[in-house]
Amino acid sequence: MGARRGWKVWCWALALIAALAGCGRAAPTGNAGAEGGSGDKVAVVTSITPLADMIRQVGGDRVAVTALVAPGTDPHDFAPKPSDIRAVAGAKVFIANGLGEETYLEKLIQSSGRSDLKVVVLSDGLQALGGGEEGQNPHMWLAPSYAIRYVEKIRDTLAQVDPAGATGYQERAKAYIDRLRELDAWIREQIAQIPPDRRTMVVFHDAWPYFCREYGLDYIYLVSSEQAEPSAQEYAKILTAVKERRVPAVFGEEGFNPKLVQRLAADAGVRFVDGLLDDTVGGAGADTYIDMMKFDVQLIVGALSGR
Ligand SMILES: [Zn+2]
Repeated sequence: MGARRGWKVWCWALALIAALAGCGRAAPTGNAGAEGGSGDKVAVVTSITPLADMIRQVGGDRVAVTALVAPGTDPHDFAPKPSDIRAVAGAKVFIANGLGEETYLEKLIQSSGRSDLKVVVLSDGLQALGGGEEGQNPHMWLAPSYAIRYVEKIRDTLAQVDPAGATGYQERAKAYIDRLRELDAWIREQIAQIPPDRRTMVVFHDAWPYFCREYGLDYIYLVSSEQAEPSAQEYAKILTAVKERRVPAVFGEEGFNPKLVQRLAADAGVRFVDGLLDDTVGGAGADTYIDMMKFDVQLIVGALSGR
């Protein structure tokens, strides 16, 4: 991992230099972007595309949302580009997931010269499970019950930074939360179709503990959010568990290297199913959070039911 970290630092330095060059040109007009960035719209920056979709659902036409992490890429290995620093420089608010999902945030805000920027952390105050960069797992959005809490906070944040749009934010949030409740009920029906002794999810990275707890699945992962690969001993343990439980399939995820899960599938003699979406939406089977969850649940139920 040392080489990877070195590369990250180097990218940072390049991004900073390029952004400073860009800022220099923009300086005479002042910080015009802070009032919107895209015309009169409220400029909101977030980290990952599932959160960007939630913000769009609540914000409607009043907000312009930028997700820093491109669709189909690994957010845990993200280094900001000059355009990201400029997006933050012009933002009205940064809506973060928290719990180590945005390890770059402090530095990014510093680089953008916006120490005044309002930062709202969606996971603040919600009950976290173990794991992740700060000792707690960041992937709360993969359980719709948590997504609902996120949406409530997005609604309140937008109403605060743009009071004139408050009624619209409330209406859209209410309608969207209704859809998230329907999604939750639908997931329960779907998961019920998996034979109880097959309800174990084996995936590459540690994105699914909230989902699995919510819907009564056991959960095994190979790699934590900070990219620590399992030791030979840990791998052997995982392999034994996969064999003993007669897990029918193991899952790779969009934006993550499938090699380790493919090896596990081969070693255990089980099916490898690729393309699960967790940290990313857009372009690969789903463009919205709700479509992402439906896509995933169909993939999971199909593979674990042996259909
Ligand atoms: Zn993740």
